[in-house]
Amino acid sequence: MSFSRRNFIVAAATAAAGAISAPYIATNMRAAASRGDGIPSKIIHYVSDGTSPSMVTISDVFSKMIRGRGLCWMEMSRTEGAFTGLMDMASLNSCVTDSSAASSSWGSGSRINNGAVNCLPDGTLLKPLYELLREPHWKRGLVTTTEITHATPAGFGSACKSRGDTTEIANYYRTLGIDVLLGGGQSLYNEEMLASYDRYGYQIIKTSDELKKIDINKKVLGLFAGGHLPMTIDWLNHKSLQKTVPQLAEMTAKALEMLGEHEHFILQVEGGRVDHACHASDAPGATYDHIAFDDAIQVGLDYQKKHPDTLIVVTADHGCGGPSMNGMGSSYTSTPKLLPNMKNALGSFERLTGDLKTCENAVQVQRYLKEKYSVQIGVDKADLLLLARDGKGCVGYDPIGGFTGQLGQVLGNYFGISWGSCNHSGDFVALVAKGPGAERFRGNIRNTDVFRNYMDFAGMKFRNKEWTGEEQKTASVSFDGHWFDTALV
Ligand SMILES: [Zn+2]
Repeated sequence: MSFSRRNFIVAAATAAAGAISAPYIATNMRAAASRGDGIPSKIIHYVSDGTSPSMVTISDVFSKMIRGRGLCWMEMSRTEGAFTGLMDMASLNSCVTDSSAASSSWGSGSRINNGAVNCLPDGTLLKPLYELLREPHWKRGLVTTTEITHATPAGFGSACKSRGDTTEIANYYRTLGIDVLLGGGQSLYNEEMLASYDRYGYQIIKTSDELKKIDINKKVLGLFAGGHLPMTIDWLNHKSLQKTVPQLAEMTAKALEMLGEHEHFILQVEGGRVDHACHASDAPGATYDHIAFDDAIQVGLDYQKKHPDTLIVVTADHGCGGPSMNGMGSSYTSTPKLLPNMKNALGSFERLTGDLKTCENAVQVQRYLKEKYSVQIGVDKADLLLLARDGKGCVGYDPIGGFTGQLGQVLGNYFGISWGSCNHSGDFVALVAKGPGAERFRGNIRNTDVFRNYMDFAGMKFRNKEWTGEEQKTASVSFDGHWFDTALV
């Protein structure tokens, strides 16, 4: 990585000396160019939420089975000019991050505590990337399959004490005038909020038909579901969803149509539901969503061919669930025979487990799983699921003890995939970058390097304040260790 650590130290010292609220911005383009770095004028930052390297492997293998080719992610990493690496995504208070702290590390260059959005433990709000890029007239977009105010997009486009402050995040986006906002979350935008977006010149849309017809010269707020967008596996199995909800690739294509002719833009594209499926130990749900995310990468690569001044970065924010394609059967040869069973799944755990939970006995459980997943489980396993549903079961490792966790383990016998927990994991995440500046993303980088690279590309030297380990230790004592009692997603 050619970023000058000395420059960073100087800038950080300036910030620590009290210049935090008065951004230190200077054009640095010439300096960067003199180092021989490529400088992109357009950036597409892809995030597959909750995707450990093992999840990428599973999707790549399954993609070959259902599409006759592996992931674009992998193809991209093999092309000339691509750089690959691993990224350390630790947050300020844990080696296992949540999505808001992860995205904030990219969005502000500062590690923060899990659960916050670009906010230090003492309440100091940091300047998010999309605020900093407003002044130099970079167009900005956020596209996601989650609610648009969810943690990952929020980390680029807002700052607040808690990721749960969705109204604050929505207000932040509007005030920054983020040009493209496409995702879910109708229930989070009341009439008053929608009217305020309207006053700021946004066109507000709710269906994929409306997305096709929008004025590409006006800002857009697209909310295609009450909450998160449906998982891809459910979208594939329900024609009604296909009529109204766009896929991530379609939203990405429209975003690039809107932003793509401008001199400078940055677009964050998130496949957010891989994470949710991994929390549920739902192997088909996660895999189909990850492949849909991969389709969106192809859209970016096609755009890049026509616009070679575009940098594409593809990565994840953290692992989730620890899925593993385990060796099964004699000499492990059963695994590739089991994986195609995922094709028989008729829906996500999210949609199906409600019905499953109403089963009254083991026979009904067996019948339901036969109907929805084409698997014939034994009575002993069906009984185990009923116990887990009723909170009576016992497992060795507690983070896999819930109902969907046990369902994932049982179905894993038929899919060749097991799970380590229903929580995030602290893996280094996989990373590939291609285009001008891609060389800065090779090797093993720190999450906060991403922000510094993007600032350099924009010709800006601004640095947010960083919280030191010692300050964190003090804060933990003074805040009594009860900041984040609830589980994060
Ligand atoms: Zn999560």
